[in-house]
Amino acid sequence: MSIYAQFGVPTVINACGTVTRLSGGRMHPDVTAAMQAASGECVDMLALQAGASRVIARVTGAEAGIVTAGASAGLLLGAAACLAGLDPARMNRLPDAGPQRDFLVVRSQRNMYDRVLTLAGGRIVEVGIPDRYSGPGVRDAAPWEIEAAITPQTAGILWLAQPQSLPTLPEVAAVARAHQLPLMVDAAAQLPPAGNLQRFLAEGADLVAFSGGKAIGGPQASGILCGRRDLVSSALIQMLDLDLFPAQFLPPAEFAPLAQLPGLPLHGIGRSCKTGKEEIVGLLVALERFASEDERARHVAWRAILEAIAAAAGNPPELRILERPVPLLELTTGDPDGVAARLAAGDPPIHCSLARRLDGVLLFSPVSLAPHHAAIIGARLRI
Ligand SMILES: *Cc1c(COP(=O)(O)O)cnc(C)c1O
Repeated sequence: MSIYAQFGVPTVINACGTVTRLSGGRMHPDVTAAMQAASGECVDMLALQAGASRVIARVTGAEAGIVTAGASAGLLLGAAACLAGLDPARMNRLPDAGPQRDFLVVRSQRNMYDRVLTLAGGRIVEVGIPDRYSGPGVRDAAPWEIEAAITPQTAGILWLAQPQSLPTLPEVAAVARAHQLPLMVDAAAQLPPAGNLQRFLAEGADLVAFSGGKAIGGPQASGILCGRRDLVSSALIQMLDLDLFPAQFLPPAEFAPLAQLPGLPLHGIGRSCKTGKEEIVGLLVALERFASEDERARHVAWRAILEAIAAAAGNPPELRILERPVPLLELTTGDPDGVAARLAAGDPPIHCSLARRLDGVLLFSPVSLAPHHAAIIGARLRI
């Protein structure tokens, strides 16, 4: 019997992808076993994050990294690090960040996740007019426009990692470097390919945030913040509970910049982003699996689930597999809303993505599916 039945909660078949609303994905038994083992003993959280930093640094090429309560939490902590640096007095004042609190964000890269910059005490300053989207033109923000928006109030730059994002990351990194401004990248959902674990840092980002609960396959409430050691150290210290005397505080080499602090901040702005030992260990085991897994084999396994759905549906011409880093099954229908509602109302409920409903298309993602779901979905798609 499902553990959820104990609480009167029905389970769903999640073909929508690792969306938070549908509880993300399913974890590999190695990951759940690691979380269970982690739950049976206590550790010093600073030492555990130092261990996490060693794994994350090896996998991403970053100087340092921490496990956060998700990519969103990572961006909040990263913003706090950009605003306060290694100054505990400034950490304690957040979200009152003082005058130097502006984050430049290209207007076409705005989304509702970037509000965490504001939560930390920052202010968003939009740059550029993306008239390539609105039709009358061909351009997006240009590097010179970002440069022109920099003032003494600027605290950092946020870049959203998406294939269509302009200016490119190397172009924005050149501007950030010239003005010694920290550049943070929201790469929450940019895995696979696994090469992206290293790519954004290699292209000049100072901080990168990834979700742990998406394709990495870690706990739903986990993520990674990695990058420059001073910024990651600042982010970490604003999340940890530091109810101790300075003499008790011995920063490990992974977070060596913390040894320079004149004193310790109190419970930081990141306290509400607390990450448990179970999530940290689960994320690390999932990350090592994801990074070492054969990319081609992973793709083939995902594709096999989609092919099995199509086969169980009788391979109708309305079903087509889209080749993407995560392959998707596309269902063309005259009534996307109606079909999606019918699938969600059935037993068991099946959830797919309506992201392309205006094109008359439903999308099915394999990431959160178990192989045995394919036959169930396929049977329900038979017309
Ligand atoms: C999913 C997502 C987030 C939030 O990530 P969590 O790990 O759920 O906190 C932030 N930004 C983008 C672009 C995302 O896709």
